[in-house]
Amino acid sequence: MVSASSIRSGSTRDRSGDPIEIPAEYKYAIVMGIAMDKEAVMTSPAFTSATATGVGYSRMAFTIACLAQFIRNLRYSAIPMGNDTALSIPLAIDAGLGQLGRNGLLITPGYGPCVRICKVFTDLPLKPDRPIDFGITETCKDCNKCATACEVRAISFEREPSYEVASPSNNEGILRCAVNVDRCYEFWVENGAAYSNCIATCPYTHRSAT
Ligand code: SF4
Repeated sequence: MVSASSIRSGSTRDRSGDPIEIPAEYKYAIVMGIAMDKEAVMTSPAFTSATATGVGYSRMAFTIACLAQFIRNLRYSAIPMGNDTALSIPLAIDAGLGQLGRNGLLITPGYGPCVRICKVFTDLPLKPDRPIDFGITETCKDCNKCATACEVRAISFEREPSYEVASPSNNEGILRCAVNVDRCYEFWVENGAAYSNCIATCPYTHRSAT
């Protein structure tokens, strides 16, 4: 699953708080969703689920490295990125790969939230795709399966999205059901591996092709 997005300026910072400036000529992001093994994810919170996450990250690294080199071979510039340097979900939404779900993840039409996202920033001239709407915001209002399945109540049960944040790690000014990502990550640490109940229980994962 591949799509392109134009890049807007942001405020990415490194761990020291210093801004990371992407040169202005990198106008586009090629955003990709890497499908994870659905059957393995369904075993969450068992370690088998974490292997799907790990394999997803490995496939991300391979794919962005190959694509970036292909673009450089065309005599353009490319910066491959996994989770780092820029937030993947907003770029994926802008690129039309899916919509934001109650679980704070990208929900794609073909694979639900059972994807990992990566991107390549480039100056290769591209025609950006557009955001899509296949009804996720309305579906999430009456679903709540991910919120019920989350053992640490990191996912909101509020019916309507709002601008409220749920943890210091949430960015402000975004209309959504904010996830307490700090509580989520603490449980990852306690569990000893990635925890994917919010992916495993989503109806869009069950409908996916993988
Ligand atoms: S499980 Fe339901 S509420 Fe949660 S993201 Fe999927 S569709 Fe939305």
